[in-house]
Amino acid sequence: MRPEAVEAMLPFLTERFGNPSGAHAVSREARKALDEARDTVAQCLEARPAEVVFTGGGTEADNLAILGALAVRRGPTVCSAVEHHAVLHTCQAAGDNRLLPVDGNGVVDLQRLPELLDPSVSVVSVMLANNEVGVIEPVREVVALTRELAPEAVVHTDAVQAFPWLDVAALAGAADLVAVSAHKFGGPKGVGALVVRQGVQVRPMIHGGGQERDRRSGTHNVAGIVAMAAAMRATVDGRAAEVARIRALRDRLADGLLATVPGCAETGDRANKIAGNCHLTFDGVESEELLVLLDAAGVYASAGSACASGAVDPSHVMAAMGVPRARALGALRLSLGPRTTEADVELALSAVPAAVSRLRQG
Ligand code: PLP
Repeated sequence: MRPEAVEAMLPFLTERFGNPSGAHAVSREARKALDEARDTVAQCLEARPAEVVFTGGGTEADNLAILGALAVRRGPTVCSAVEHHAVLHTCQAAGDNRLLPVDGNGVVDLQRLPELLDPSVSVVSVMLANNEVGVIEPVREVVALTRELAPEAVVHTDAVQAFPWLDVAALAGAADLVAVSAHKFGGPKGVGALVVRQGVQVRPMIHGGGQERDRRSGTHNVAGIVAMAAAMRATVDGRAAEVARIRALRDRLADGLLATVPGCAETGDRANKIAGNCHLTFDGVESEELLVLLDAAGVYASAGSACASGAVDPSHVMAAMGVPRARALGALRLSLGPRTTEADVELALSAVPAAVSRLRQG
């Protein structure tokens, strides 16, 4: 977590442990902190305070957006084929889901969107930045086409990965619903927010005491919310400088590996990716084995593949991008963030080629 976030939350775990829904002085203090946090989050997302609904993370925000909108008006959902499972599985569970394909770079195919849209469509959900390959999606264009061809549909964007790197308000345009998650930008896990634009209706999924204007019941996670707001403020204030620094580190890492490791390819168009994402594939190498060797070398990476019931499948993102299965099975995602140093990049630049050549020698 960012130090600003830790510092902001500590008093609310100790001497300021009031419940903002109560009536006495300790509660009022917590209510004030909650209101201030809401103002900050609203400012950082260019929303009105009343449009911010605090949730228990990104997954819950995505679920509230999609299921909450469907409960108001049932109809087919349209989402991109590369959505995080928090969106993809939610749309699929609701039934009647139409998948918007992506091109070889992971960008949604806007030419195909009109054939998926008609006035019956209820929800359109396209993420702002992809969590696996880092690609930035044309959400403004998705909003414009939806307004034209499915005027009653609401547009949701999962901005969970985008927020640390991008001006979400500018890129999400007039999207009706925008989800963020604190642990992606230096806040705590288990807290997030959904922006519900004025005039847009979502039915609650969690019923109870009527908190959050009856859109999400449950005693507020005051410490988490206050910490999220502090992390958001620090992220927005430092974003331009941090993005430039991290982009330079990422470029050195990606270029270094592409130049030194034969059979290494980059996934997606780097010019259209968030700065902290380095996604590569290595021919003839299995991700899972690569991760084990890297872990031992102190490089904590992830693969683009998910292991289910013993069988390793390429990720749905790489499959949707049309990356051949053999190549997709050798995927490696190296994520950089505010705490990544030059020394970390140097370590990866020596550990990855060593691990790949060891695996290729069998
Ligand atoms: N959406 C995207 C794009 C994500 O990357 C994640 C987290 O990995 C989520 C949603 C889920 O957020 P949370 O972990 O806060 O539930």
